[in-house]
Amino acid sequence: MMQQYHAAKVDHPNTLLFYRMGDFYELFYGDAEKAAQLLNITLTQRGQSAGQPIPMAGVPFHALENYLGRLLKLGESVAICEQVGEVGASKGPVERKVVRVVTPGTVTDSELMSDKAEAMLLVVHQAQRARCGLAWLSVTQGKIFLAECTHEELPAWIARIAPSEVAYSAGASQRFEQSLYQLRSSGVLTCPLALRPDWQFDEKLGERKLLEQLGAASLQAWNAQTLYAAHAAAGALLTYAEHTQGRNLPHVQTIHVVRDDALIDLPATTRRNLELVKTLRGEDSPTLFSLIDTCQTGMGSRLLKSWLLEPSRDRSDARARLGAIGVLRGDSDTLSAAPWQILRTELKGVSDVERITARIALRQVRPRELVALGLTLQKAQQLARNAAAPAPLLGEIFEALQPPLDAMELLIRSIAPEPAALVRDGGVIAEGFDAELDELRAIQTNCDAFLLDLETREKARTGISNLRVQFNKVHGFYIEVTSSHKDKVPDDYRRRQTLKNAERFITPELKTFEDKALSAQERALQREKWLYEQVLDQLQPQVTALCRVGQAIASLDALCALAERSLTLNWCAPQFVPEPCIDIDAGRHPVVEARLAETSNASFIANNTRLSSLQRLQIITGPNMGGKSTYMRQVALIALLASMGSYVPATRCLLGPIDAIHTRIGAADDLANAQSTFMLEMTEAAQILHSATPYSLVLMDEIGRGTSTFDGLALASGIATHLHDKTKALALFATHYFELTELPAKAKHAINMHVAATEAGSDIVFLHELQPGPASRSYGVQVAKLAGMPAPVLSHARHALAALESRQQAGDSQVDLFAQPASAETPTPSAVEAQLRELQPDTLTPRDALDLLYSLKRLA
Ligand code: ADP
Repeated sequence: MMQQYHAAKVDHPNTLLFYRMGDFYELFYGDAEKAAQLLNITLTQRGQSAGQPIPMAGVPFHALENYLGRLLKLGESVAICEQVGEVGASKGPVERKVVRVVTPGTVTDSELMSDKAEAMLLVVHQAQRARCGLAWLSVTQGKIFLAECTHEELPAWIARIAPSEVAYSAGASQRFEQSLYQLRSSGVLTCPLALRPDWQFDEKLGERKLLEQLGAASLQAWNAQTLYAAHAAAGALLTYAEHTQGRNLPHVQTIHVVRDDALIDLPATTRRNLELVKTLRGEDSPTLFSLIDTCQTGMGSRLLKSWLLEPSRDRSDARARLGAIGVLRGDSDTLSAAPWQILRTELKGVSDVERITARIALRQVRPRELVALGLTLQKAQQLARNAAAPAPLLGEIFEALQPPLDAMELLIRSIAPEPAALVRDGGVIAEGFDAELDELRAIQTNCDAFLLDLETREKARTGISNLRVQFNKVHGFYIEVTSSHKDKVPDDYRRRQTLKNAERFITPELKTFEDKALSAQERALQREKWLYEQVLDQLQPQVTALCRVGQAIASLDALCALAERSLTLNWCAPQFVPEPCIDIDAGRHPVVEARLAETSNASFIANNTRLSSLQRLQIITGPNMGGKSTYMRQVALIALLASMGSYVPATRCLLGPIDAIHTRIGAADDLANAQSTFMLEMTEAAQILHSATPYSLVLMDEIGRGTSTFDGLALASGIATHLHDKTKALALFATHYFELTELPAKAKHAINMHVAATEAGSDIVFLHELQPGPASRSYGVQVAKLAGMPAPVLSHARHALAALESRQQAGDSQVDLFAQPASAETPTPSAVEAQLRELQPDTLTPRDALDLLYSLKRLA
C-alpha cells in the first residue's frame, strides 16, 4: 500500500496528498506533519519505513469539504486520491488514483467558492525583451483571457486580474521570481504562487492547445495570432487546469484578448484608495461595490464586479447599459410596477447556471444542482417572454435567455424532483425515465407486501403470535422470535443472531427472497449511475447554450441592480461628450452619503465639479476634516460609475473620454518592502507623472507631507506645475501648503478651491461646501480641539501660532515658489554622449567606424 502511496505522491510533490483509506483520507510523512499543524488534527504513526515509524494524520471522508476549504484559504493545494477499483477485485490494495487536484485558482466545488468572486488562475510567462505573456481563466466561467505587457506593467495587470493563484515557470529567471515574491510582500499579489515545469511554457504548444480547445484552425478570428508570449502562458494554463480537473475542459470555448489600451487604467493604488471592492482595512463593506451590488444571484454580482473593475475606454458598452437601465427603471410609466421589480421577483432563487454548467462539462455536477438548473431554465423561459424591450441590449439579453429546450426537457424528465445528494446513494433518477430502473425498483417496493404475507403465513404455521419478519442493513432479512417461544421454532429455521431476549432466524424461502431483493437494489444503483452518466453525455453538446443563458441571467440581474440603485439612491444618467471634461452638478460621495444616512441625521452636502482642458487643475485647500478627500474621491467614483454604464450620484453629469484614474492618497508605511512613507509617496507620484495623459483623472492628496516643510513644499509645487504644464491631466490637488494657492495666478488652467468652514466661538463648523478661491485659514488648532487635545496644549499652540504669523508678516518678501528655474537644468552629458556629439559619420572609414563602436562599448 505504501508503494502505491509513493507512486501517487511522486506526481504531486508540492501538494498535500489526501489518500483515501476506508472512511478516512490519510496523509503521510511531511504532508501529515504539515496538515496536523495547519488543521490542528492529531498526528499519529503507522507501521515502519526504514526502521522509522511513518507519521500519519487523517480526516473523516464526510468532512472533506470543511478541511479543503480551510486549506485553500491558507493557500494550500490538495490532491485527492480515491479508491477507484472494486474492493477485493485484485490482489494487493484496492486500485487508487488521484482524481482531482484542488488548488485556490482552480476550485469548482460550490461549497468552496465565494458566490461573488471568481476563482481566477493566472499564468505569467517571462518572455524575451522584458515582456510578459499572461493567460488567465476561471474554470467555472470557461473563458480564457490573453494579454501581453512589459515587466513594469505587470503589477498593474495583476492588480486588475486579482487572481486566486499565480503560476509561473520553473525556468523563469531569479529576478523574475523575486519580483513576483516582492509583489506578494507588498500586497499587490495576495494569493499563492505555484511553480510549473518549464516545458509547458512553449509558444507552439500553447498555440496548438488553444486551437484544439477552440476547435479552430487559426487564432486570427480572436486577433490573438501574434501574441506568442501569451500563447506560451496559455499552454501552461491549460495544462495546469486540466491537471487539476483530471480531464480536459470542454466548456472552455472562447478566448478574449485584453489590450491595455482598451480599458480604463485603475492601478492597484486607485482600487485601494477609492475602496472599490475592499475598504482600506481590507473588509468587504462598506465599499462602492457593496453599495451597488443588490444582485439576486452570484452570477450577477460577479459580472457587476467585473463591470466596475474593468470599464472600457470605449463608451459603447456603457451607453448600451445606460439605455437598458433607463428602460428597466420604467421612467415613462408611473402606474404599473417598474420592469426591474417584476424581473427581479422572477430572478429570485435562480441557480448559478454558469457554475453548474461548468460542473456538467467537468462531470462533477451533483444531482440537486441538475434539478436547480432545470427549474432555472424554466424560469429563463418565462423571463424570455418579456422580450419586446425597447433597448437593444435588453433585446439581446431576452433572446439569449431562451433556454435550450432539449436540455430543459431532459433535466426535468430524468432527475427526481428531490434527489439524494450523491448519485451513489441512489434515488436520483426520476420515476418513469427508464423502464428497467422502474422494474428493479418495483421489486424493492413489492418487498413490503411479500414480507407481510410471509409473516402471516409463518405465524399460522408456528403458532408464535409475536413473530416478526424484519430487515436491517447489517444482517439483512430475518424472522425474530422472542426467547419465550424458542421451543416452537420449526426445524427449517437457521439461526442468524442471538439477542438478549430474542433469536433471529432465516428460512430458505426468506433467503431466496433476500438475494433477489438485494441484487435488485444493487442493480438499480448501478443502473442509476449509468443513467446519470448518460444524462451528462447528452448535456455535453448543450454546454455552450447553457453558458449563454447563464450570461444573460447575469447581465439582466446586474442591470436590474443598477436600475434599482439609481432609483433608491436618487442617481442620474450621465452623458458622454467627446472632449476631456468632468462636469458634475450636485455630486455626492455615494458611500459616505449612505453611511451618513444610516448613522446620523446629517445630510450629505452635494458639490459641483467643473474640470475641462481649459480649467484642469484644482488646488483644494481647507481644514482637516473639511471634506477634501471625500470630494476628490467622489469625483473619481462618479467618473468610474459613469464609465461602467451606471447612473451616478449627482443631478447632472457630463463626462469626456477617460483613460486612467490615478490616485496618490495617504500612505501606510510599507515596512515589508523597507520603503519609507516618503519614498512610497514619491514613487507613486513619479509613476503618475510618467503615465498620466490629458485624458487621465489624477487625485493627489497632501503630497509632500512625508518630508521637511521646505522639501515637501518645493516638491509639491514642482509636481503641481508638472501636472499643469506637462501631463495636462484633469487633476484635483488637495494640499495644506497655502503657498501652492499662488499657482493659479501663474498657471492659467489651474484654479483655487476650498472647503468652507466657519467659526462659532473657538469652535469650528465644517460646511463641507466647496467654494472658489483659497482657504483663508487652516483651523489646525480648532480641529485639534475637536480631537480632544488637552487645553494647555491648545493654549500653547495658539500662542505659538500667533508668534509664527507675526514673524512671517515682519519677514522678508515672500519666496516665489512658482518662478521658473533661471535656466532649465540640463544634465551633463555622459562620456558616450560626448563622443557621439563629436562624431562625424560621413568622414569615417568602415574600419574607423568599427573601432569607434568598440570604444563606445567600453565607455557604456
Ligand atoms: P479632509 O480630507 O478635508 O480631512 P474628509 O474628506 O476626510 O476631510 O471628511 C471628513 C468627514 O467629513 C467625512 O468622514 C464625512 O463624514 C464628512 N464629510 C465630508 N464631506 C462631506 C459632505 N460633502 N457632506 C457631509 N459630510 C461630509
